[in-house]
Amino acid sequence: MLTNTFLTGAATIQLILSYYANYYNQTDLAATLEEMKPDFGLPKIEIFDFVIVGGGTAGCLLASRLSERYTVLLLERGGPPPPPTKNPYYGYQIEQHPGFNDHFSSTPQKGIKGADGGLNNVTTGRMLGGSGSHNGNIYNRGSPHDYDNYAKLFNDESWKYENILKYYKRFESFGGIVFGDQNITRSDYFGQSGPIHVETNLPPILPTWFQAGIELGYKVQDPNALQEESFTPMVKSAKNGRRSSTYTGYLKKIMGTRSNLRVLMYSDVDEVLINENKTAYGVVYKRHGMPQIAHASKEVILSPSTFTTPIILIKSGVGPKDVLLKAKIPVKHHLPGVGKNLRDHAGVFLEFTATNSSDELLPVVSETGLEKELLKFQSVESSGFYSRNDLGHAQAFFVSQVAKKRGQTGWPDIQVVFKQTARVGKKSPQRVTMHVIVNRLESQGEVIFDTDKYLQGVRDAVELAKIDYNLLTDEEDRLVLMEAINHTLKIMEETTPMRALGMNFTQAIPSVCQTFPYRSPEFWTCYMQQMAGSWWHQSGTCKMGQKSDEFAVVDSKFRVFGINKLRVVDASIYPVTLNANINAATIMIAEKAAEDLFNEYAS
Ligand SMILES: Cc1cc2nc3c(=O)[nH]c(=O)nc-3n(C[C@H](O)[C@H](O)[C@H](O)COP(=O)(O)OP(=O)(O)OC[C@H]3O[C@@H](n4cnc5c(N)ncnc54)[C@H](O)[C@@H]3O)c2cc1C
Repeated sequence: MLTNTFLTGAATIQLILSYYANYYNQTDLAATLEEMKPDFGLPKIEIFDFVIVGGGTAGCLLASRLSERYTVLLLERGGPPPPPTKNPYYGYQIEQHPGFNDHFSSTPQKGIKGADGGLNNVTTGRMLGGSGSHNGNIYNRGSPHDYDNYAKLFNDESWKYENILKYYKRFESFGGIVFGDQNITRSDYFGQSGPIHVETNLPPILPTWFQAGIELGYKVQDPNALQEESFTPMVKSAKNGRRSSTYTGYLKKIMGTRSNLRVLMYSDVDEVLINENKTAYGVVYKRHGMPQIAHASKEVILSPSTFTTPIILIKSGVGPKDVLLKAKIPVKHHLPGVGKNLRDHAGVFLEFTATNSSDELLPVVSETGLEKELLKFQSVESSGFYSRNDLGHAQAFFVSQVAKKRGQTGWPDIQVVFKQTARVGKKSPQRVTMHVIVNRLESQGEVIFDTDKYLQGVRDAVELAKIDYNLLTDEEDRLVLMEAINHTLKIMEETTPMRALGMNFTQAIPSVCQTFPYRSPEFWTCYMQQMAGSWWHQSGTCKMGQKSDEFAVVDSKFRVFGINKLRVVDASIYPVTLNANINAATIMIAEKAAEDLFNEYAS
């Protein structure tokens, strides 16, 4: 009999992941060598209508949509996602594995110090589906104000919430529950038959969470149709608890079925080929390390995401002139905004322990229970605890005093997430980790192109990118985070339902903060500096904007300023962050970009 520790243990999962990383790579390498034999491995120039760089959240969708009408080459640096990606329970372990991730290094940070001296290294998914294949599956669209603000910034009405709703409806299969009193008709706000499944997390704690919110004077609302200041359930991109991504929903089912779609894995794009008329006409890439070239008769689309897109642009001669000159890269076009304006969400964890744990509200599994639950989940019908998303998540959105002072009264900027983990055996304490997040930060950082390394011959984008988040350097951002912490303490310590559960603040405090009076403003300032970090929602380094904005990289139709036939379609285009985890919004922009391309090339 396998033991619970065997099936669910971190070491076991790492072994399984290593097995798949190696197996997938070797299988694809053998097929690649076989295919290349007739050409003696020499670069063979293939021509497609569209070449898409990066098969992540945006890239998988674009490849699927564009190959409905055109010939498409999708180039992805990684391989297929391994089987454990189906179960979001393993997300953290997959995020750690070098076989399925790129690990980006940060510069020491000014606003956060932390045990590692202020580094904030970050991993992103390197596999089909990108980070959408291992992320937390949290599905939030953001506030209508986020989109209406983009429409204003871009001077383009098509970005207003009422106009982008059709893209959300196009890709969603919403099987969730609509909470609240906003008179929301499912058909007006949610898609019913799209490729991405969306379901509401219904953990037993949810009514208790809502009660706490109501006691504090907040409404209970739906998080997605019309996000407001409210307590809401957590919504996931999943079906019966299994991950639903642009890989599973769009690409996987058509791979190998469309002769006009070629998907090449382990294919790492170095640069975009741009001619003397400033027109992109192809890419140079390495397939399993072997140099190759592909041409695009219509367009090249960059979707390798926030850290890598600016690096590829700079390697191709598009970026700040001073950086290009320093790296001795021929200047194709001076675009000062490439790599600037790095945006993210920032937050801290606060841990609580329930001393009066109620077994009904806070799931308990027996010592062997987890193993049984995993087996039920893996069965064809996917049943049990994991399929119901019982491992509780719930959330609340708040409008900070800072936002109110800016006149943004109905536009939330704080997200607080309640997250409980399964209790194994009745005696183990029930811990709850609160995620306390500021979503609309003013602080902005930069992806720095390492010219020294480039001059030494390094070409790998991950090595060339130095990430300076500059998180929490803006004083107002710190004020908002302090307010978010206070909201969290109030919910967990002062409301009747949470008091009934005996919630105690049990977070380990860094020793350097213990010198300040316990829970004083100085104490929390220290805690934030030591414990805050990126919330893995990087964006902004190729920001969308109007031509008059010197630092805009793409226009409101994703076209790179100054270069013909080149677009960026990934999370890097958002000029400011939304009040939401950004995967849903990244799926949306890919649908929008596909429609723009269909309209443009209709004839
Ligand atoms: C740990 C983590 C947890 C997250 N949790 C959530 C969540 O719960 N909910 C949510 O909404 N968002 C979450 N996010 C954010 C969300 O997943 C990303 O914002 C989203 O996936 C970005 O989509 P993208 O298409 O821009 O890039 P990605 O999905 O990252 O895809 C980029 C792809 O390009 C490939 N690539 C990179 N360089 C090259 C190259 N040179 N040549 C070829 N291919 C290349 C990569 O391998 C990758 O597959 C999380 C992110 C992380 C990292």
